[in-house]
Amino acid sequence: MSGLWYPGVERINGPSNKQWPPQIKKGMMSHSMEGSLASSLSVLLGPLKRSWTFSNAKSGRLIQHYGIDTSCYHAGSYQGNIQHISMEHEGVAGQPLTQKQIQNNINVTKWIQKVEEWPDVYKQSTRPARYGALAEHNLYKATACPSGRIPWGTILAGVNSIVEEKEKDMSIACFTIKDTNNPFNKKVFWIEANNLVMAPSGAVWKSLQATGHLAAGPATVITTAQLHLIRKQYGHTS
Ligand SMILES: [Zn+2]
Repeated sequence: MSGLWYPGVERINGPSNKQWPPQIKKGMMSHSMEGSLASSLSVLLGPLKRSWTFSNAKSGRLIQHYGIDTSCYHAGSYQGNIQHISMEHEGVAGQPLTQKQIQNNINVTKWIQKVEEWPDVYKQSTRPARYGALAEHNLYKATACPSGRIPWGTILAGVNSIVEEKEKDMSIACFTIKDTNNPFNKKVFWIEANNLVMAPSGAVWKSLQATGHLAAGPATVITTAQLHLIRKQYGHTS
C-alpha cells in the first residue's frame, strides 16, 4: 500500500478500533503531546479513544501509527478528525520544537502534498479547510494545543523550498587531482553522463560548490600519466 506510509518510516501500529476510513486528507493538524513520547505511546496503545497518525519525537524519531487514508480520534471534532491527518509533537508548552522535529514536519508535509497532489499548502486560520490546510488543534476545539510551539513561518518556507532539486544536483560527486610533479597544479573534476568534466577555473568550481551543485569529493594525488589514463577512460583522447 504505497502512498499510505511515509517512505522508510518507523511503524508502531495503533489499535485498529481507534481509526476508521475514510480520511479526506484536506490537510495536516499539528498537536503538542504535552508530555513525553513514552507517555503518549501508552495512551495511543491503551483503551482511551485517542489516536493520531504520526508521533514526532524531540530526538528526531518519527513513528507512523496509521496509514494516511484513515481518520483518528485526535481533533475532538468530527470535521477535524476526518479532514486532517495528524501529527503529535513530543514536549510541552514553552518548549520550542527541536530542529529535527521541524524537519520531520516539513518532510512529512511535503510528502503528503506530493502524494495527495495538493496544489499548495497554507496555514489554516479559518474553517472549512481547503486542500493543503496546515492546522492547529485549537482551530477545531477549545484547547491550547499545540501551545504556540509550531513555527509556521519556518515550516511553510521549508515545505515550499526547492531542496529536492538541489539534492538531485548534489548527487554529482567530484574529485580533486594534484599533479605529483607540481602539487600546486590542482584540478577539480567530476563525471557527468559518463564524461570526465574539468572545472575551467577555481572560481567556477567554488561557485558551483557554493550553490550546492557539486559536493566536495576526496583529493587524490596522481601523476600526469595517470590523469591521461583517466581522461582516456572517460572518452577524452589526450
Ligand atoms: Zn492537540
